Order: sequence, then C-alpha cells, then structure tokens
Amino acid sequence: MKAVVVNPNAKSNIEVIEKELRPLKSGEALVDVEYCGVCHTDLHVAAGNFGNVEGRILGHEGIGIVSQIADDVTSLKIGDRVSIAWMFHSCGRCEYCTTGRETFCRNVQNAGYSVDGGKAEQCIVAADYAVKVPEGLNPAQASSITCAGVTTYKAIKVADIKAGQWIVIYGCGGLGNLAIQYAKHVFNAKVIAVDINDDKLTLAKEIGADMTINPITQGDADQLIQEQIGGAHAAVVTAVSKAAFNSAVNAVRTCGKVVAVGLPSETMDLNIPRLVLDGIEVVGSLVGTRRDLEEAFQFGAEGKVVPIVKTRCLHEVQDVFEEMEKGKIQGRMVIDFKQHSYR
Ligand code: NAD
Ligand code: ZN
Ligand code: ZN
Repeated sequence: MKAVVVNPNAKSNIEVIEKELRPLKSGEALVDVEYCGVCHTDLHVAAGNFGNVEGRILGHEGIGIVSQIADDVTSLKIGDRVSIAWMFHSCGRCEYCTTGRETFCRNVQNAGYSVDGGKAEQCIVAADYAVKVPEGLNPAQASSITCAGVTTYKAIKVADIKAGQWIVIYGCGGLGNLAIQYAKHVFNAKVIAVDINDDKLTLAKEIGADMTINPITQGDADQLIQEQIGGAHAAVVTAVSKAAFNSAVNAVRTCGKVVAVGLPSETMDLNIPRLVLDGIEVVGSLVGTRRDLEEAFQFGAEGKVVPIVKTRCLHEVQDVFEEMEKGKIQGRMVIDFKQHSYR
C-alpha cells in the first residue's frame, strides 16, 4: 500500500512510499482509509519538533471503513466507518485514564507520531479507541473533526465559556475555522477571530465570527479587544506563534482564561503581576477524549458545524505541506485515499 512517511531529506520532510502492514494482533482492526486531513501537527512531527521519527507513517485525521477485525474484537464490525485520531490508545488504568483525562495518559500512543497513522491506504487501529462516525456526516468533513474539530471543541469546554460571553480565537486556519463554529453555534458565545491573513478573516466572518482583527494591519489585537469590549472572557490560541500567546494573555478580562492549543517551539512571556492581580488562568489543552470526539462528530452530523475542507490527491501531499507552512490554506486540505486502485 501507499503511505506518507517522515523523511528529513525529502521535500517537506515527507515522502510517499510502498509499505506492507503486519497481520492484526488481539484487539486490533484494519481500516481501509478514505480520507486523512493534513494537520499542522503533521508538519511539527515531520520536522522533528517532538523528536526524530523517521519512517513513521503520519496522519491523525483519518477516516475509513473497517475491513478486518481480530477474533476477540467486539466493539467494531466489518463495514463500520471509524476515526484514526491522535488519541490512538492509552493504558486505561492510570489516574488520567480513569478520571476522564485519557489524552494525558503517560503511556498514551499517538497515531502518526508514536505509532503508524492514517496517511496511508490502510491503517491498523486499536478497536476500542476507534470512534464511529455517525450517519449523515460527510467522511471528508469527519476527517477534519477527528483532530481540528475535537481539539477546538475540547479547548472551548476547557475555556469554560458561557452563552453570550466573548471568546477570542487566535489563528483561523484548520483548527481555527472549527473553533469559531463550535464557539458560535454550539456554545452560543460571541466570537472574535484574530489572524494575520485577511483571507482567513474573510472566511471567519462568513462562518459566524462577530468581530475580526488582523494585528498586522489594524494594530494590537489585545488593545483593540480591551478598548471595544473590556476584554474577552476567554481565549483559545491555535496560532503557531508566540506573539499570539502573549497577546491572548492581555486580551482577556479579569479572571479570564487562556487556553493554549497551538504548538510553536517557543516560550511565552507571562507577566506575573498581571497573572496574580487579575486572576488570569493559562492552561494547555490536548486533543480530546473518545467521548469528546463522539460529541464533536455529532454536532457535525447535525450540521451545527460544517468543516471547511478541500480534497486533494495523494501525489500532491508534499505541496499541501508546503502550502500549510506558508499559511496559504483555507480551512483544511484532506488527502483522498479512495482514488487509488489497490482494492
Ligand atoms: P494552520 O496552519 O491551518 O492554521 C494556523 C493559523 O494561524 C493560520 O491561519 C495562520 O495564518 C495563523 N497565524 C499565524 N501566526 C499568527 C499570529 N501571530 N496571530 C494570529 N494568527 C496567526 O494550523 P492548524 O492545523 O490549525 O494547527 C495550529 C496549531 O495547533 C499547530 O501548532 C498544531 O500543531 C496545533 N495543534 C494542537 C493540538 C492540540 O491538541 N493542542 C491539536 C491539533 C493541532
Ligand atoms: Zn492534529
Ligand atoms: Zn493511562
């Protein structure tokens, strides 16, 4: 089968190779991949930002159809449409797994990073961790919810935003377009979208943002937000930029919450008196649990959120990585694995 693997010497640090999968083990299922979105995390993994994983099959926005199951699998059956997510497997026993925080399990496995992922024609999954895609949800759109959707849905939960309150979303790319939609149409919040590209802000307006700010052409986003609404109640930062994290701390009002989601390899500034005297909270949020993904899918199936996706051919995958690095992508580019003729 064809697979997209990490290769530090190739264009965009990736290449498409032929690879054979091993036979299934106990508890596993084989998925024929239909679609897999390109997440900015794939670029971080391919660039070695989280360590060298040369040869690893990338991909954690996979959607496909179960074509084989191990004898002992009861949670899936052949023909089910399921996800291949970053949250690939966890121990199920530790203090994080047993308290609804399985993404932080110290023995977690992540698709497309610590185990082979969904950017391939087929993928082996841990059956109990593959989340079923509900009827009525377009599979290419479901792919984008498998990481971008669940991550932002969860981040907004962590932000603790209430209906009618203001939330600012920094970065309106693959994650950001879904953050705006979940915030607006599921949590009924008022949304400010911040991005350094005007085309992203045009899209943000179209999908429901109440206010948009381009800090390059309009000036400091935090200052404008403080002047115009007295500060946001919360911020979710998906931008791959330290500047956005620093701005978010200044954009929230007293007792506001900053939820860190983007993964620039940098350090942010935290003004201690600002933190203490204004009771600001800064917290990281990592993808979402299987239950979060079920919920995030359901809102997609109900049409409350409509991921902005465009399908692309596997042979274009290096170009897609390059376009993402340059900030040229609107919404999400999703690799279509169905067009290959191996089956
Ligand atoms: P993307 O490239 O699609 O979007 C990033 C957006 O940020 C772009 O629209 C870009 O124009 C914008 N941006 C860049 N600099 C900015 C700035 N200074 N201010 C405002 N906006 C700015 O990327 P994505 O797929 O949405 O991923 C975003 C980040 O989130 C990546 O670092 C990725 O690794 C991370 N991520 C984290 C999690 C998690 O669980 N925490 C999950 C998925 C992705
Ligand atoms: Zn991702
Ligand atoms: Zn665990």
